[in-house]
Amino acid sequence: MSIAEYMSMCLFHPKHGYYTSRDPFGSEGDFTTAPEISQMFGELIALTLAQAWMDQGQPQHVALVELGPGRGTLMADILRTLRAVPGFLDAYSIHLVEASPHMRSLQKEALKGFEPTWHDGVETLPDNQAIFVVANEFFDALPIRQMVRDGAGWRERQVGVENDTLCFGLSEATALSALQHRLEDTKDGDLVEFCSAAPHIMTTLANCIEQNGGAAFIFDYGDWRSLGDTLQALQAHDAVDPLHQPGQCDLTAHVDFEALITDLPCSHSKVTPQGIFLERLGITQRAQALASKLNSAALDQHIAAHRRLTHPEEMGNLFKTIALFPNGAKPPAGYEV
Ligand code: SAH
Repeated sequence: MSIAEYMSMCLFHPKHGYYTSRDPFGSEGDFTTAPEISQMFGELIALTLAQAWMDQGQPQHVALVELGPGRGTLMADILRTLRAVPGFLDAYSIHLVEASPHMRSLQKEALKGFEPTWHDGVETLPDNQAIFVVANEFFDALPIRQMVRDGAGWRERQVGVENDTLCFGLSEATALSALQHRLEDTKDGDLVEFCSAAPHIMTTLANCIEQNGGAAFIFDYGDWRSLGDTLQALQAHDAVDPLHQPGQCDLTAHVDFEALITDLPCSHSKVTPQGIFLERLGITQRAQALASKLNSAALDQHIAAHRRLTHPEEMGNLFKTIALFPNGAKPPAGYEV
């Protein structure tokens, strides 16, 4: 099977899939994410979102959307912060795109008192109103295909079985129109990854933003233009072989931000390192305000969380963000074009 089929099955098999069967977050789990590290992440996203809403004339019908909300922590932080923005909470409805029933139940718990609508995909999101979208570590969980350059064609990396053990192999070489442009900057043996699902998701969101207003704020680890094997598996916060215990490890790949923004009908910002984005929005001032109410271990933990989100040697540089917004609107706070 292709790497994409293997990833889909490992992550979303109805019974044995990673996201369908467990809560992977936190110190007990396999990995942690920015909103699980500190409330400051969601608070600052809420501010740039609210500012974009005001800059666009405060549209009165707004869909507030999150893709892959995990435990629901980020949306809960955003909603708490938006309570301070006059008028916003009269205007919105909440929409969560989540494939895992188990994750949906955690989100329901975290968002008690709100009435989110869950969606299997972006196709059913409202398309007649402004849409403000947040996605953190969503695109890295989407299945990717891996292609190895062979002359003017590509051999697909696959997962098979040899002597009862999972192993990687390569298909015969074929031409691939989706990778035509990569013939210019790769040589024989180079590996290129692509995610077939991402362009459709991005185009659907971008069409709605361009027609009805709104913005999207996307955070993930990755870079501009994929090159090399980035498929990785995490178990109990350690890297393991991606073929190890299928369905019991988190499987992700770096996000190719170039592929995300290619041919979109709306505007997009530059790809911005997460640390720079958070500093532009004043995370240091927010961290100081919160620190004044803390002491001993809680203070140490808070200082470590600030560093973890922003420092270039931690998540500050590896993680990147882009924003989408309507042509003619100004880029949301924290972003440049
Ligand atoms: N945004 C959260 C969680 C990231 S983990 C955080 O920052 O903590 C990825 C999330 O995306 C999980 O909730 C997972 O179930 C969901 N997910 C992954 N692939 C998906 C898909 N194809 N469709 C819908 N949800 C998906």
